Amino acid sequence: MSIDIKTKCLHIESEEGYKNHYGSISYPIYQTATYAHPEVGCSTGFDYSRLQNPTRKQLEQTVEALENGIDALAFSSGMAAITALMEIFKPGDHLVTDADLYGGSIRLFDNINVKNGIEFSRVDCSRVEIEDYIKDNTKAIYIETPTNPMMRVIDIEKVAAIAKKHNLLLIVDNTFLSPYFQNPLDLGADIVIHSGTKFLGGHNDTIAGFVVTNREDISEKLRFIIKTVGSGLAPFDSWLILRGIKTLGIRMEKAEENAFEIVKYLQSEPKVKNVYYPGIPGTESYEISKRQARGFGSMLTFEVESAALAKHILKFTKLIPFAESLGGVETLLTYPCTQTHADVPEEERIANGITDCVLRMSVGIEAAVDLINDLKEAIDSYDGYKAQYI
Ligand SMILES: *Cc1c(COP(=O)(O)O)cnc(C)c1O
Repeated sequence: MSIDIKTKCLHIESEEGYKNHYGSISYPIYQTATYAHPEVGCSTGFDYSRLQNPTRKQLEQTVEALENGIDALAFSSGMAAITALMEIFKPGDHLVTDADLYGGSIRLFDNINVKNGIEFSRVDCSRVEIEDYIKDNTKAIYIETPTNPMMRVIDIEKVAAIAKKHNLLLIVDNTFLSPYFQNPLDLGADIVIHSGTKFLGGHNDTIAGFVVTNREDISEKLRFIIKTVGSGLAPFDSWLILRGIKTLGIRMEKAEENAFEIVKYLQSEPKVKNVYYPGIPGTESYEISKRQARGFGSMLTFEVESAALAKHILKFTKLIPFAESLGGVETLLTYPCTQTHADVPEEERIANGITDCVLRMSVGIEAAVDLINDLKEAIDSYDGYKAQYI
């Protein structure tokens, strides 16, 4: 039976169903490090929780179902997931990555993976000819779409075709849209990454990460890595993410609806110079999104007339906190140039459009009118304070 993604968030086709665990509707938290064996050569299926734990397994099967993969692995953070994934490469391997990635991923590649002999070319995959950067030792293409924070949409099927032609892996960080709106494996990707901290968890209360794949060979390698390096997600945190996923559908729908309202307001605001959101018609990002995703999500970026105004907004919104992260029920405002993208070389950051006038907003599920009033009051109160930022 094929079931809708909204239903998959609540019911996965697990081997055991509700037969076990006393019919518990909420999957139990197995807070155990180890498991007793009935006799030599026999196992309950679980031996030691670094390798696997029932609560983590339940979560992994849920995410695997949402992304249409054959395996999903839950890690202690999004960065732990990407770090583990990078272990499938060896010294001398080369990856082409998009230029507009999550800052933490760039920090990992530049400071840890490069040290281990892996090479990277960072290119704007939404605009340039990716094939020009593919070399004999290239092993993978690594993208995020929409990109962070400039919200450029990359055509996944087009990049997948290039990856297939050159026998490369295509890795897509799908954090921004979540599996609710986009499934990169269905579009030709081999590996999907998630920061589970964001939309999957959805409540700004748990750090988690995922690698999902539809390839047996990759799954086997990743299972070896997770048990060897020991960065799997803890049972309680696995349960929190499972609970978050139950409402993924309604959260994504409401947050997207709010995002549209806020975009409308920002576009009418003279002190706002640019609004970047894939749901704005008439752009290439919009057309690609219509083809490859079921929604536009609730992440948006906007550029205001001056850095002083950007800082003023961050200080004077009353409802919307100035905080890193995204994808939670609470709306957050982020300042990419000093927060998420502080470690990206300045020249590269500015070339990508991430100036000190740019704010990123993760829209939550509050009443849109309250969010708009909060932004409007902060922006309207600006003039009188100008001097204090100059
Ligand atoms: C937050 C984030 C990460 C890192 O995830 P953590 O859970 O914070 O370690 C990776 N990619 C994207 C797109 C993110 O937003």
